[in-house]
Amino acid sequence: MKDITVIGAGYVGLVTSACLVELGNKVSCIDTDKEKIRQLHQAIIPFYEPRLKELVEKGLENDMLSFSESYEGISENSEIFIICVGTPPQSDGSTNISYVCESAKGIAKNIKRDSIVFIKSTVPVGTNELISSIIKENLSAELDIEVASHPEFLKEGDAVRDFMEPDRIIIGTFSELVKKTAHEVYKSLNLQKDKIIFISPKAAELTKYAANSFLATKISFMNELSLLADNLSIDINEIRRGIGSDKRIGEYFLYAGLGYGGSCFPKDIDSLIDAYKKNNIESAILSSVKQVNENQLTSFLSKILDYYTIKDLKSKVLLIWGLSFKPNTDDIRESVSLKLIQKLSTQVKELKLYDPVAIPNSREFLKDINNITFLDNQYQYIERCDSLIICTEWENFLDPDYTHISKLKDKVIFDGRNILNKNKAKEFGLKYMGIGC
Ligand code: NAD
Repeated sequence: MKDITVIGAGYVGLVTSACLVELGNKVSCIDTDKEKIRQLHQAIIPFYEPRLKELVEKGLENDMLSFSESYEGISENSEIFIICVGTPPQSDGSTNISYVCESAKGIAKNIKRDSIVFIKSTVPVGTNELISSIIKENLSAELDIEVASHPEFLKEGDAVRDFMEPDRIIIGTFSELVKKTAHEVYKSLNLQKDKIIFISPKAAELTKYAANSFLATKISFMNELSLLADNLSIDINEIRRGIGSDKRIGEYFLYAGLGYGGSCFPKDIDSLIDAYKKNNIESAILSSVKQVNENQLTSFLSKILDYYTIKDLKSKVLLIWGLSFKPNTDDIRESVSLKLIQKLSTQVKELKLYDPVAIPNSREFLKDINNITFLDNQYQYIERCDSLIICTEWENFLDPDYTHISKLKDKVIFDGRNILNKNKAKEFGLKYMGIGC
């Protein structure tokens, strides 16, 4: 059993804390957001993430998980620190690492024994080195501190499973002590197969950006191909099946749609583009990936505007399913759905919006728009709506009740995630418009 302190109780930090307890460790989680910590003391999870509440409750009950709003109470037994604070984008695309730097100072001033500090936040190459020097400058006693890069690859909505069943665990270090400690902490995840990959700290930092950029590239590739498929009357899903069956390509991240959003892909791609710029190298691929992603929303919007005349649209009530940036989360950061709503709201009479869990966050984000109504369920007032737009692939949208949907006045579906069975929709007299299909 290790005594671990996790810094940051967000999507990554809280999952990391709860899962490390599940692996048999004692974890204290620090977050400077007092309200978040107050809620966590009562096992109230400040965001939606399946399976997390049960783990947090169990950890609190067993006295293996605790929460604090200050660094001063860092346990004298704590020997491992994991920084999981946010690294938001700045207006020029570069990454704001000030929260990581503040965490490093907080640790250094309050640390009580030789320790290892892992940086799990996604940070630009070189941050590991910087944090090492910040800690040395701020240490209050003569202590040996190792800093290692430990990027996180979990997906919101499936974060607990991703943590407990990782494809790989990346540790950027040259230290034998860090390697030994990582093996001890992740022993039970590593029984069948050695999943830990030790590489240099800089390589670990870049690996995280490379992984997200590669996945985003697959998405943008399919989205660009979907434009051609649309023109040639080819179903992009048939292409997906055709190429996804090739093991060299792989079946994941090949779905054409409204494009990627969320708190990671957009900012991580910007950050990598910024790294290219700072190294005076052109990043032709990444700039195109970003551009294609932005065009995807514009071309979907044009599909709606082409279907209705601008004058027509002014009298229409459109129903939108899906507000979060992807299913199984209430995270609306960089949600394509909300961007679409902002653009469409000025062109229509009204938008009726439904999402299984992201309505509270969206209500706050969209508070300045007055021709929107939030719904209690996906079919509420459907007979008063003209058409349906699907923006997020939540499970309960995958096989909907078409009898209800056929009550739409114009009987049209704009499927921004290509999730419906278009033949079934047509059987119910509905006009179906997907992306590249
Ligand atoms: P988040 O915004 O959900 O949580 C960050 C938390 O850090 C907040 O609760 C905030 O109050 C806290 N915090 C800020 N400064 C602090 C400080 N000085 N001391 C203590 N707490 C502080 O962010 P997140 O989504 O969990 O992401 C965290 C990091 O992990 C980012 O670098 C992100 O890029 C990376 N990441 C995120 C995901 C994801 O799916 N969300 C996946 C992999 C990696």
